Formats: sequence, structure tokens, C-alpha cells
Amino acid sequence: MQPMLHFSEVYEKTRKTISKKRWHKTQANGREINWQHVLKTDCTMQLLLSAKKLDHAHEQALAKLRNKLNDEVIFSRINLGALIASVNDAAKARQRMPSPYAFNLSRAGALKMLYHLYFVRKRGAQGVWVYSPPVSNQSWVYAALKSDPTRMIDKLNQRDEYFTLEQRDIIGSASELAMQWCNNALATGGIYKDVTVANWFLGNDQRVKKAAKRNIMQKVNIGLQKMINLLNSNTLIFSYHPKFGNTTALPAGVAGFVYPYEKMDVLYIKNDFEAHDGKPAEWHCAKTIIHEVSHRVLKTKDHSYGWQGLKPSNTGISAKQAIDNADTWAYFVTDISFNLTDTQRARYLVPKHR
Ligand SMILES: [Zn+2]
Repeated sequence: MQPMLHFSEVYEKTRKTISKKRWHKTQANGREINWQHVLKTDCTMQLLLSAKKLDHAHEQALAKLRNKLNDEVIFSRINLGALIASVNDAAKARQRMPSPYAFNLSRAGALKMLYHLYFVRKRGAQGVWVYSPPVSNQSWVYAALKSDPTRMIDKLNQRDEYFTLEQRDIIGSASELAMQWCNNALATGGIYKDVTVANWFLGNDQRVKKAAKRNIMQKVNIGLQKMINLLNSNTLIFSYHPKFGNTTALPAGVAGFVYPYEKMDVLYIKNDFEAHDGKPAEWHCAKTIIHEVSHRVLKTKDHSYGWQGLKPSNTGISAKQAIDNADTWAYFVTDISFNLTDTQRARYLVPKHR
């Protein structure tokens, strides 16, 4: 089997494990837990985990399961790891020829995965999903359990979540901010818009033909609408990725990434959004979100980052690259929604320095 690469694959395995496997009863210090009942009847987890997406109409399933597990930790007087591992042992006991260690860790993996998955509410039914597994697990949950089954309970017990509660809130507010900025960008008309579009997408690249200039406004509007559609949905997932723990896997300065063709709408963003440069953490996070959403829905590339210079010109990136460049979209949206200072514009709107 290929190692898992994406959140979507972890999700799919969890979904199948919840809906298709039999869940056996367990005992801990005299308390019986009927997992089939807990998952299917109390939490209706199978309704949350639909084939195509996490169904926000059933988002409360996650908090219900988390509360149930936390309660059982208290009432059964065992740790979270042992509690989750017990579903695995119960399944193993039913097997005619049990292997020495977990022959099948999927049930434990599924509970552990769902324990660290959150719905972060923006307003009304609007919200985003945040997957915040323990950093110390270092790989996707199923791989982490499989790699060293002797430490299974240990790994299941870890709670050093990648995103803190405060950071999950920042992600929620920043998603809303990103959507507002894109909406403002789309609504802004007149000369100001022409100038800003020209600044970021045409610059002084002499190679741009007149027809391309006329086209650019249309392309920008279509792109903004596509980004708004995703930001305004309930399908956006922010996830930790094991690459974040590996300093050689990601170039320095990269705040996140996406797999543009991944099945679900997942943005992998780092948790190091902090207030700096006179802007709050939400501002930086919102800019990262727009950058990543452009990768996701417009299939943009990274021709140049803000700190390298974004102005289209004969020496820097071309106008053709600008419309296809994630950071250009991020700074353009920030600028046109009046969220970029003159100093910042002057710093980033320069030809790429080689
Ligand atoms: Zn990028």
C-alpha cells in the first residue's frame, strides 16, 4: 500500500472504518461502552462523514464524540490512549488468529483522527474545519500507529495538538476576513480598481498586448468569484501536514501548501501566524489563506513571493506569470480591499530581484 499523502486519504479511511466496520463493546474498570451505539446513534458520525465532504449539518458529532471520550477517561479512570486502544483490543479478541500486536489499527486510528478534528464556526452555519493532530505523532495517524504498535497507547494518548484553541479561532476569523477582502475586491470598481489591477497584473511588462490588457479585468473578476465560492462554502479544511515537522521537506518561508488536485478542499497551513509588520495575526493568516485558495481553485504557481518582488516587468516576472502567481493574488486582494499600507506596497510592488 502506498503511504498516505493527503488529509483526504486519512478521511476516506476513517469514513469507511466508521461506516463499514463492526464496533464491539468494551469494558474498562467495570464500565461498558457500546461503541456501535455511541458512534452511530449518539453521535450519528456516519452522517457527518459523507462520501464527498464533511457535512456541516452534522458538525456536532465531533464535539459529542470528544465529550464522550473525555467523560470516559474520567469515569473509567484510564487514559485516553488506553481507552481508544480498547476498541482495537476488542476487535482483536474476536479474531480467530490474533497477531501479537494490533492486526488492524483502523478503529483506533479513526477515533483518534476524529478526536482532533474541529468545526470552527464563523457565523450561522458558516464555518471551516481544522484538523489538529498531535505534533509528536509526526506522521498521519494510521501510519503513526502502524510504525510502532508497541507504543500505540502512548501515541493514542498524545494531545500536543498542532493548532491551539486560540490558533483555531484565528483561522476561523482569518477565513472570514479573506472572504470579505475578496468580496471587497470584486465589488470595488472605477479607476482605483483599474490602477490596482494594472499595478499587480500588468506592471510595466512591455510585452503585454492590448487584447491581453482588456482581458485581464475579466480574468481577475472570474478568479475572485471562484475564490469567494470556496471561502463561502462549508467544505474548507485546514490541516496539519507531517511535512511541517520536517525542516528539509519545505523551503524556509513557506507558510503552507495545497495539493491542487486533492479530492477535498484542504489547505495545509503552518501555525506560525503571528502579529508583525504592524498587522495582527489574522491579517497574515488571511493573506496566506488567499494565497493557498488561489493555488486550490485557480491552480496558480509560485513564480515569485512578495519578499522577492511581484511587479510584472521585463526583468521580473512577466504579466503572464503574474496572473498565474499565488502571492500576486494575495497582495492584490489585500491592496484593493484597502488592507495594504503604502510602505508595504512600495516594498512588494517591485520587479523580482535576482
Ligand atoms: Zn504557494
